[in-house]
Amino acid sequence: MQTIDNYNFAGKKAFVRVDFNVPLDENFNITDDTRIRAALPTLKKILKDGGSIIIGSHLGRPKGPTDKFSLKHITGHVSELLGVDVQFANDCMSEEAAVKAAALQPGEVLVLENLRFYAEEEGKPRGLADDATDEEKAAAKKAVKESQKEFTKKLASYADCYVNDAFGTAHRAHASTALIAQYFDVNNKMFGYLMEKEVTAVNKVLNDIKRPFTAIMGGSKVSSKIEIIENLMDKVDNLIITGGMTFTFEKAMGGQIGLSLCEEDKLDLALDLMKKAKEKGVNLVLATDARIADKFSNDANVKLAESNEIPDGWQGLDIGPKSEVLFAKVINESKTILWNGPAGVFEFDKFAEGSKAIGLAVAEATKNGAFSLVGGGDSVACVNKFGLADQVSYVSTGGGALLEAIEGKKLPGIAAIEE
Ligand code: AMP
Repeated sequence: MQTIDNYNFAGKKAFVRVDFNVPLDENFNITDDTRIRAALPTLKKILKDGGSIIIGSHLGRPKGPTDKFSLKHITGHVSELLGVDVQFANDCMSEEAAVKAAALQPGEVLVLENLRFYAEEEGKPRGLADDATDEEKAAAKKAVKESQKEFTKKLASYADCYVNDAFGTAHRAHASTALIAQYFDVNNKMFGYLMEKEVTAVNKVLNDIKRPFTAIMGGSKVSSKIEIIENLMDKVDNLIITGGMTFTFEKAMGGQIGLSLCEEDKLDLALDLMKKAKEKGVNLVLATDARIADKFSNDANVKLAESNEIPDGWQGLDIGPKSEVLFAKVINESKTILWNGPAGVFEFDKFAEGSKAIGLAVAEATKNGAFSLVGGGDSVACVNKFGLADQVSYVSTGGGALLEAIEGKKLPGIAAIEE
C-alpha cells in the first residue's frame, strides 16, 4: 500500500479529502479549528515536496448551495495556518474549478466549494415530495447514483493522486471519501497522516491487544451502544458500563432507580448482555454508588446513594466515590484501554467528578505503559475539559466512524484505499 511518507508529490496535483466540517458562529468565525489543524501535517508534506493541493470537504448538512455552509468562510483561516495564499472555486463542478485546478503550480492550494452542495456527493436523492411513491423514490435514487459517477469522475480528473485524510467521514461510501479512489491506481492513492494515525490506533485496540483490555462505555443510552458493546464482548477482559446506561441495568436487576435515565424496552437486553459477559468470561463492572440529584440541573441538591437504591424523585447523574475507586483499580491494571462516553452529566460541574476520575485513571495507566484510545463524541469533550488530552495515547477525531470501526465494520473510506 502506498503511504504518504513514501510518496513524492513533486510536480503532482493531489486531491485531498479533508474534514473541514468545523463549527462557525453567526458571523462565520470558526469557533474550533481542531479539524483544520489535524489536516495540516498532510497538507504541509505535499507542499514541501513541491506538489499542489485541491482540497475537498463538506461543511454541515446542506440540502443544496447555501451561503451558510460555504467553505469560503474557512479559506482565509486555512491560508493563515498554511502560510500560503489559498484559492477558492465557488462550485466544485464548474468550469472555474476545472480551470483553477489545471492551472495550479507547485506549492499552490485550491479549496473547492462544499462538496455536499451536490446530492451526488452523498449519492442520496434530494427534494423528493413527502408523498413520493416507492417507484418514484427508487427512480430518484437510481438517477442520483447514475449522475454520481460523472461527479466522482470529474473530481478525480482534477488530480494526479488521491489522499484521504477525513477519518470523520470514513464510514460513508460517498463520492469523495471512497468512490473517487477507483480512479487512481494503487500507487497513487493513500491515507493522509491523520487517517494513518486513526487506522493504527483502531488496529491496536482491535487486533494488537495487550492484556488486560478494558473498555469503558459510558454515555446516555444502551440502545446507541449495543452493537459496539456486543462486539467488544469478544475482545475485552473488563467492560465498564457507566453513565446513564447504568440505570437500565440496575432496573433490570430489580433495583430502585428513581427518576434516573432508563430505557424500559431495553431491560431484557441489559440482562442478556450480563449473561453473555458471564458466558464469555468478561468482567462486567457497573457502578455501585451514584451522585444523585433532585433535578436535572447544576443547581440541584446532591447526595450519595447506592446505584440500586435511589429514592423516589431523585436521579443518578454521576457515579459516586466508591465507584470511582472501583473503576480506577480496573483501569490501572489494564494494558489496553478504550474509553467512549462519560460517566455522568459532565457538562454540569457538579456531576463531572466521575468522568474526571476515569480520565485521571486512564492517564495514570497510560503513564504506566498502557495504550489508551479515547473517542466518540462526548469523550473527547471530556478529556479536553479536564486537560487530559495529551496524557492519553490517542484521542480520535472520529465519532460515528470510530464506533463503526470498533464494531468491527470495514469502513468504506479505508477499504477504498486498502483494496
Ligand atoms: P452519548 O452521546 O450516548 O455518548 O451520551 C453522552 C451524554 O450522556 C452526555 O451529554 C452526558 O451528559 C449524558 N449522561 C451521562 N451520564 C448520564 C446520566 N447519569 N444521566 C443522564 N445523562 C447522562
